[in-house]
Amino acid sequence: MSITSFNPPVRTLMGPGPSDVHPRVTSAMARPCIGHLDPAFVGMMDEVKSMLQYAFQTQNQLTIPVSAPGSAGMETTFQNILEPGDKVVICQNGVFGGRMKEVAERCGAEVVMVEDDWGKPVDPNKAEEALKANPDAKVLAFVHAETSTGARSDAKTLCKIAHDNDALALVDAVTSLGGSELKVDDWGIDAIYSGTQKCLSCTPGISPVSFSQRAVDVITSRKTKVQSWFLDTNLVMGYWGPNAKRAYHHTAPVNAMYALHESLVMLQDEGIENAWARHYNNHLVLRAGLEAMGLNFVVEEEYRLPQLNSVTVPDGVDEAAVRGRLLNDFNLEIGAGLGALAGKVWRIGLMGHSSRYENIFLCLSALESVLGDMGAPINKGAALDAATAAMK
Ligand SMILES: *Cc1c(COP(=O)(O)O)cnc(C)c1O
Repeated sequence: MSITSFNPPVRTLMGPGPSDVHPRVTSAMARPCIGHLDPAFVGMMDEVKSMLQYAFQTQNQLTIPVSAPGSAGMETTFQNILEPGDKVVICQNGVFGGRMKEVAERCGAEVVMVEDDWGKPVDPNKAEEALKANPDAKVLAFVHAETSTGARSDAKTLCKIAHDNDALALVDAVTSLGGSELKVDDWGIDAIYSGTQKCLSCTPGISPVSFSQRAVDVITSRKTKVQSWFLDTNLVMGYWGPNAKRAYHHTAPVNAMYALHESLVMLQDEGIENAWARHYNNHLVLRAGLEAMGLNFVVEEEYRLPQLNSVTVPDGVDEAAVRGRLLNDFNLEIGAGLGALAGKVWRIGLMGHSSRYENIFLCLSALESVLGDMGAPINKGAALDAATAAMK
């Protein structure tokens, strides 16, 4: 038997990422591969950097795409800032805060955890208490948009608390970049990382990061080498840096960079505030439909992420069977619960190119069809009217 070309099914992606990739982005990826030190490619790299500054709302010079997925962005921020023996306060209210702990421990750092319930935002008071109790902490780290639960934390307040206590603010913005208000310079974020496959309508595999001058000063005055050669920003900047001679460090994923470039052009054309507003307004449409069906949100209204909607699975419903039928019968992917919420919730993503009316109405009608057929306790026939009424 011989193996032939792989032709993936065409799906609608409404899970926690990857989200739908815009056709402009996939066609950009199919353009010819050129050398990664070709002057034409180098010019494009500069454009990517300046468009990332726009996306992050920052003037930070050290704003680059790491050639690997969001988790590598997490590693890049922690590994460059932390040295063995440093203390870091990490806030956890879902999966990704726990992953931060793993990464920080592998940097040899001493970790102080601040725990909040899954589905709740990070409590700024607890973060402040932890910093007061640990005045030698170098960093306060937290997840802005917790994709595992759908909760948004108050990044602006948490950054202020970090600075008031002489700590750097390190932020996971994998799911917030392009989807919710995020202002790196205004809020004083010192180190931030994101991903391309959530709210940027792009393919997975690249992680935009940015470091403030304060963070750069910390990195350049390290006593020890960054443990990872590949993620050491001192070395990467020889490749991506301003006025750099563009020495070979690694081979950038050339075509993936075309994809990121195209998605950032689209973000500029839409306008970042408009992108945030689109994600929010579409969330209201989906929400109207889900609530009319009788489904309940996990996260309190004030802290809900528009791009990640967690709803409780109705009693007696086999949540995995529902997801299976959505995928097989409707080519629709939604997300399962993770960790403390496993088996209890669905996570419906409205990220990037997935955040549009067609997807919302497909999701509502497919969900109603499947749940209705399974005899689940839902209101039938109300969701689409409610969603229509919520359209602006
Ligand atoms: C998806 C995600 C990550 C990890 O990104 P990968 O690209 O899967 O490595 C990290 N943090 C958050 C909040 C995420 O949603």
